[in-house]
Amino acid sequence: MLDHLITALPGIGPKLSQAYRHLGIETVKDLLFAFPLRYEDYRQVKGIADVEPGSATTVQGTITGIRSRRSPRKRMMLTEATVEDATGTINAVWFHQPYIAKALKVGDKVSLSGKIDDGYGLTLMNPQFEKLSVSGKTMHTGRLVPVYSTAGKMAQKGRRSAVQHALPAARDLQEWLPDWVMDAYDLLSLADAVPVLHFPEEQQRWEQAMRRMKLGELVLHQIGHVRAKIEIESASARTVPFGEERIRSFVDLLPFALTSAQKKAVYAALQDMERGIPMHRLLEGDVGAGKTVVAAAVADHVAAAGGQTAYLAPTEILAVQQATSFLETFGDRASVALLTSAYQELNGVTVPRKEVLDALIDGRIDVLIGTHALLTGDVQVPDLTLVIVDEQHRFGVEQRKKLLLPRNGNTPHFLSMTATPIPRTLAMALYGDMRISVLDELPPGRGEVETVLLRPGQDKQAYGLMAQTLRQGQQAYVVCPFIEESESSDAESVTTLVQTLQKGALKEFTLAALHGKMKSSEKDEVMERFRRGEVDVLVSTTVIEVGVNVPNATTIFIEGAERFGLAQLHQLRGRVRRSSQKATCFLHPTTLSGTTKERLQAMVDHDNGFTLAEIDLKLRGPGDKFGTRQSGLPEFEFASLSDHALIAQAREVAEKILEQDPDLVAHELLRDELNRFVEKMRG
Ligand code: ADP
Ligand code: MG
Repeated sequence: MLDHLITALPGIGPKLSQAYRHLGIETVKDLLFAFPLRYEDYRQVKGIADVEPGSATTVQGTITGIRSRRSPRKRMMLTEATVEDATGTINAVWFHQPYIAKALKVGDKVSLSGKIDDGYGLTLMNPQFEKLSVSGKTMHTGRLVPVYSTAGKMAQKGRRSAVQHALPAARDLQEWLPDWVMDAYDLLSLADAVPVLHFPEEQQRWEQAMRRMKLGELVLHQIGHVRAKIEIESASARTVPFGEERIRSFVDLLPFALTSAQKKAVYAALQDMERGIPMHRLLEGDVGAGKTVVAAAVADHVAAAGGQTAYLAPTEILAVQQATSFLETFGDRASVALLTSAYQELNGVTVPRKEVLDALIDGRIDVLIGTHALLTGDVQVPDLTLVIVDEQHRFGVEQRKKLLLPRNGNTPHFLSMTATPIPRTLAMALYGDMRISVLDELPPGRGEVETVLLRPGQDKQAYGLMAQTLRQGQQAYVVCPFIEESESSDAESVTTLVQTLQKGALKEFTLAALHGKMKSSEKDEVMERFRRGEVDVLVSTTVIEVGVNVPNATTIFIEGAERFGLAQLHQLRGRVRRSSQKATCFLHPTTLSGTTKERLQAMVDHDNGFTLAEIDLKLRGPGDKFGTRQSGLPEFEFASLSDHALIAQAREVAEKILEQDPDLVAHELLRDELNRFVEKMRG
């Protein structure tokens, strides 16, 4: 039954099955594994005499009258019913659903769930309804009611009854977690958990079912990590000897002293590279913490050992910026080349791609910096010894893997950098295959960023303050709300904002737009003009940049601030924490409702990325995925990043399973599930 097409279920014909297919549902099993998006809580069943306005309530009684009519101004079809129970009567009203007057008739016993309105006496507004069966069991009212995603002509009710019809098949679901895991963690089997997730009867049972699903997916996730770790530790890598002199002379070159966190990170990485097995290290550091110089120190050691480094930057702008900065730092200690898809100009010199490629092969280039253009087939780095990936989450696993393929029996060392603040315990669990360095202090002499939360519409004064700093020769960013993942609508909102500001608050200044629809060379040119100070205000979308480094920019104005996750707002704010000058971050939300105010206020109260990440997790709560997507943390279907304990348990389970059965030969079902999971995570 599980493998039957859903057309085998009553009520699903070819047309509807087409709609289901749009949701990725073809078989009964697919249907069972397409879980509710959320539940409507209609558990409160009340006597009609006891209902109160406001809350979602269920009443059950007999219809004593029902009719449809046009509203007085004829714009609406109203359906009105009167329902009676032992305690009293109440009216129910539906808009634009005249069919209800045919579906229900006087004398029917019904169950109605909805909000109670007290405009003209207590009324149930647009309630969910169903006829009560003899058993009294309900599907659409009077319980936790599942809400699914729908497509085409599919209705919630239809989808619910389809699932209801499919539920008996859940009995045949095979458990893929090993028995000892089921016992040790006292888990519901899939066959028991799946129905509960569709039609929960009690909260506690639902939580048990969720725990089964969460642990299941976390175990699959951890198996991936543990395997990667085993693989790394059994590979060999070129030994990069630690050179006291070399590191000292590197540090002497710098115009500043390294922070102790930077020193620790550098030494940890240098020690990793001495071991003959590949380094696999994550460097976490808040925006502006100074990750680049750590990377440079490590690359410098590799160059001294005669190896080559590839540095992968997420965008062309950053690639250019980092190449410039490496070039400055290294002087003639090591040679640096830039390779992007657009062109290879560095410090005003354009080098043809072919020349860069030749120089790489000859070993004349020690450090190659570029975008994903580094990953194309014609790029050969014969002595590739170190791979550095900046903002690692911007790249797919596959892309990273490509760079980390062994050459001449040696796997390159890997240093991955991220500005996503992840609490250390969580990071160990999430990136269990990596060692972790955290830059938990900012370089000294950085000014505070004053963060101002504006009320919606209260932007005039703020732009006025921005104008004052601009008149003193400082620069500013304006960030447009992220609309959707469409580059053209982003471009439009940037262009419109530039026009508005240019005509109004920022009339006297030079503004420039930066958005994803522009050609790379155009973007670069704008960035370069901004860096040189020819542009006062850069108006951009966030898709552009987080790591851009222009110390003279001291104000950032974030429009539509409520649309960003806290981690991202914090990263944006980091753009103006680059100098000792006083900096300001204006947050301008379009609305300030619900938790929005609390979330944005956290930005005012806290300046630590880790604290903000914790708050964000708490306020958004599990299930709300908004913001996670932008941060590069893994997205699970069931588990959330606040499930610390489960993540740790999953880690243990994964380790034990692989210890007993490294290739999962004795875990066939689990292996299949793992393959599906990997496919899914790849998207
Ligand atoms: P991020 O961690 O965001 O990549 P960067 O590496 O871009 O940060 O560094 C931000 C700025 O801080 C750069 O201008 C860099 O030169 C400077 N910087 C880095 N380390 C120090 C330090 N120890 N003392 C002073 N300035 C530093
Ligand atoms: Mg950076």
